[in-house]
Amino acid sequence: LDTGRPVPDVRTELPGPLAREILAADTAITSPSLPRAYPLAPRRASGCVIEDVDGNLFLDFNAGIAVNSTGHTHPAVVAAVQAQAAELLHYSASDFYLPVYSQTCAALAATAPMPGPVRVFLTNSGAEAVDGALKLVRHATGRPYVISFFGAFHGRTYGAVTLTASKAKYHKGFGPLVPGVLHAPYAWSVRDPETGARSHDEDLTFDFLENTLFRHQVDPSEVAAVFVEPIQGEGGYLVPPQGWMRRLRELCDRHGILLVADEVQSGMGRTGAMWAIEHAGVAPDVLISAKGLASGLPLGAFIARAELMESWGAGAHGSTYGGSPVPCAAALATLEVIRDEGLLDNAAKVGAVLTEGLRDLAARHPSVVTDVRGVGLMIGVEFRTAAQSAAVQQGCFERGLLVLECGETTVRVSPPLVITADQARTALDILGDVLAGIPA
Ligand code: PMP
Repeated sequence: LDTGRPVPDVRTELPGPLAREILAADTAITSPSLPRAYPLAPRRASGCVIEDVDGNLFLDFNAGIAVNSTGHTHPAVVAAVQAQAAELLHYSASDFYLPVYSQTCAALAATAPMPGPVRVFLTNSGAEAVDGALKLVRHATGRPYVISFFGAFHGRTYGAVTLTASKAKYHKGFGPLVPGVLHAPYAWSVRDPETGARSHDEDLTFDFLENTLFRHQVDPSEVAAVFVEPIQGEGGYLVPPQGWMRRLRELCDRHGILLVADEVQSGMGRTGAMWAIEHAGVAPDVLISAKGLASGLPLGAFIARAELMESWGAGAHGSTYGGSPVPCAAALATLEVIRDEGLLDNAAKVGAVLTEGLRDLAARHPSVVTDVRGVGLMIGVEFRTAAQSAAVQQGCFERGLLVLECGETTVRVSPPLVITADQARTALDILGDVLAGIPA
């Protein structure tokens, strides 16, 4: 699909006739809680190209919400999955020794941005990895409280959704949530609803933690960990200013608090480094991964300093499926492809082409685009109003470019790491056309 044929190629009105049938059947039977962005019904995909059920071709700048890191159906990943499936589909790694499980843990440990020895626990999803890490930090420290940030997204299971504070609707109706979770402001000031202007506030987080939270609500000696996304994902692709993460590390060290980096969206090469926290030169105590980890198969992980993981004993935490053989084989192949095909360099290089092109577009449409920010292939384009970002998402879809909103007024640009500069330029052309039709 991703060779020889020009993309995008949208031949039917969207949704096409077959997609309309699928939509009708889906709407009648699936949970209405699923927040469908637009009527895309994919049938098959390769590289950065998706074909829908009606034969329309799309350029994929979502990568299945930052999941299809090596591109769709990468031959090496497919071959590894097929070989593993023919050999052993499942045996629980909680109770038995699976070679592919320990190989995956070792391969992941080798990438960990932590200086000392680490241990790894594998899960089925990002949220499960977050919940596992939450249990671990409480168990390892004996401290009851944890802190996460406004704007954070950590998943939908009870622990993870309690840490999440990006949209009030994610909590509404579900309380009481998990006790002992406190929230602090991230490194961005609140956006001006009139102008859309945002600014960094270097001191906001630290003033709040030291002078408000630790003084009036909780003694820092009772805080087990701070959970942080090195770049906020669902909250709007927000990049903290240089030095912010280092200050957060120092604050944690001052109080014996663990630093947990949630790299579910920012990790596995998306920013041009294996882990986004590497750009800050900071080592976390626990690192959480999922999404891009297995190129689309369900796999999550938390990697912790060995002494933390060694604080809990047999049976303290487990999972029937977590780290099942086929997702593990996909993860091993994914790590190899990232290394062998130089995908970190590609993410940095094509990311720079995209960022420059998007900044040019922003300069041409100052009353529509208020900010372009990002690192590597994790780029957010922010609009003045939510109506504008919604219209851009829809306009791109109609022209065969798949992008997805995040935050309130931001469109994220997060293609597979195998994206080419030519494909990036095609996407920029489409975005330029779409922006030209967006009212100020
Ligand atoms: N953490 C982050 C940073 C995420 O972006 C997400 C998913 N968007 C999650 C956790 C939850 O992952 P999952 O959907 O696999 O549970």
